[in-house]
Amino acid sequence: MTYDPTNVFARILRREIPTPWLHEDEHCIAFRDIAPQAPLHVLVIPKKPLRNVADAGPDDATLLGHLLRVGAALAKQLGYPDARLVTNNGAGVGQTVFHLHVHVLAGRSLAWPPG
Ligand code: AMP
Repeated sequence: MTYDPTNVFARILRREIPTPWLHEDEHCIAFRDIAPQAPLHVLVIPKKPLRNVADAGPDDATLLGHLLRVGAALAKQLGYPDARLVTNNGAGVGQTVFHLHVHVLAGRSLAWPPG
């Protein structure tokens, strides 16, 4: 499948949608989820146009790790040293936006296994 540059996160990256960015570096940005599922619900997304983890290649391994590290650091910085970092990889498991993103959830008890 090809990357669709009209997806909502691509539009946030192009600043076509005015979403406050909590973090930006060379490789990614982070912003709050519009429909938070926990007191902290942040999304970390790469600047690189990747649909999801399955779309990432060997050259993206460092980038994938970076997204996780940024998510954990941001949660800690915002007062949540414990946080769940998850990514939906495909429509069959709930992915709705096809620009890779890591959900960072914290601030309430989270069931395991997830629903
Ligand atoms: P997923 O279902 O894993 O693809 O997650 C997509 C997430 O994007 C959902 O949690 C949505 O609430 C969130 N979302 C959709 N549109 C926006 C937006 N404009 N700004 C922030 N988050 C959004």
